[in-house]
Amino acid sequence: MADNTFHRTTHFIDGRLQQAHSTARIDVVNPASEEVFGSVVDGDDVDVDAAVHAARAASADWAATSPTERGDRLRALADAFEARSDEVSALVSRQNGTPIGLAKAMQTMVPANYRYFASLADDLRVEEQRTTMTGDAVIRREPVGVVGAIVPWNGPQPLTAWKIGPALAAGCTTVIKPAAETSLDSFVLAELFAEAGLPDGVANIVTGGRETGAALVRHPGVRKIAFTGSTAAGKAIAAQCASDLKHVTLELGGKSAGILLDDVDLQAFKPFVMSACTPNTGQTCRALTRILAPRERYDEIVDFIADTMKAIPLGDPDDPANFFGPLVNATQRDRVEAYLTLGVEEGARIVTGGGRPEGFDRGYYVEPTVFRDVRNDMRIAREEIFGPVVVVLPYDSVDEAVAIANDSDYGLGGGVFSPDVDKATDVARRIVSGTVGVNSASFPMDAPFGGVKNSGLGRELGPTALDAYLEYKTIFRGV
Ligand code: NAD
Repeated sequence: MADNTFHRTTHFIDGRLQQAHSTARIDVVNPASEEVFGSVVDGDDVDVDAAVHAARAASADWAATSPTERGDRLRALADAFEARSDEVSALVSRQNGTPIGLAKAMQTMVPANYRYFASLADDLRVEEQRTTMTGDAVIRREPVGVVGAIVPWNGPQPLTAWKIGPALAAGCTTVIKPAAETSLDSFVLAELFAEAGLPDGVANIVTGGRETGAALVRHPGVRKIAFTGSTAAGKAIAAQCASDLKHVTLELGGKSAGILLDDVDLQAFKPFVMSACTPNTGQTCRALTRILAPRERYDEIVDFIADTMKAIPLGDPDDPANFFGPLVNATQRDRVEAYLTLGVEEGARIVTGGGRPEGFDRGYYVEPTVFRDVRNDMRIAREEIFGPVVVVLPYDSVDEAVAIANDSDYGLGGGVFSPDVDKATDVARRIVSGTVGVNSASFPMDAPFGGVKNSGLGRELGPTALDAYLEYKTIFRGV
């Protein structure tokens, strides 16, 4: 079969589509219809090696371009992306089931991300002279080398931008390994690289699954891995990077707590049920899926969240009226359903949802579900479910709410909701996590993003985003 929009037999290496060495293929499935509508190559070691080779060959010239020139290429990439944004949104939604409205909103962020990283390139001081304790010195910030960017399926383009944006700005060359579920959109990105005037080999794309990712991680030509995905994969990658002494940043899973203070205004909280607790049908790493409610308002809050979730339109992700779609694949659907059964076995009670929605005989749909009478030692309160499932726990004091929030293996997100912003901010200060929103679900791209504990290592975004892609070099001089 020849290479086309939906059936790919190539990787993007050294500025062009190149026939893959691997003959293995991965089906691309529409999760709303269960229809196989495409396929991509399951790349092997030879494919990965060719991409890393191209990235290494392009390294020295790209590192030698001025940061402003690199910023200009990123700005051109942002412009090119903007022009194809709707096309990318449709392609992403068809592969991963993200409701089209959200898919479009997510693609709108991508050019903004590239422009932000371009501004960091403009500000990058490659060299500075310093007077040190032993004399004068030149301190240089040099790119780390070839970066492997490994991306999950839930936000493929923004999460790619969060990695290659700072990498390219810093002067690194890159090999991207998209998720097997969402690789077709990366071929649009490949076209945009050329349009933006990125030199051949600066950004390469190899498709495939876990083994392709693992081949990239262990390749000796790669100096840094930037990974977003599950904690289990993150730990395996960290172990390999430790043994090779490679740089690594890990953005992993979460089980973030949303604390509703006793004066919470539920009408004001209402939009956050979708935007903060269950965005992308709950398949979002920093979703606030553990809601902590003051005991005296517990019943009211449980019922309010359940009624709100029930009323959110669910269905065909192509229909802009829908905010819940299918889960990404059958495995994810089965996993979420297993947690629904487990929660009941653990003694929690389902207030709404708990099964498959009526009227959908196709597609990986699960009903938005709210559990009450949940204790923090239950697995449904401790483990990441990655579906439209919210658990609500009661607390008796703010100290107890903070203790429950922090009694978690994860620490990626968090939220505090109250009309008293100062009081809520004080509570937010006590949450052990990389990010906490106070009455907000809008994460700013010009602030650091990342997790603690099992949620990851290092930070993306923010003014220091380039640091993870730079090595310092000191040239100290005698007189
Ligand atoms: P996953 O870890 O299975 O896969 C993510 C990516 O890593 C894919 O490209 C996959 O092919 C690759 N991969 C998997 N195992 C690998 C290995 N051993 N070596 C190298 N590459 C490997 O995760 P997923 O199921 O695709 O995504 C869902 C998970 O990602 C959830 O746990 C979610 O919380 C997490 N996530 C985190 C963030 C964040 O910013 N923290 C964002 C989105 C998703």
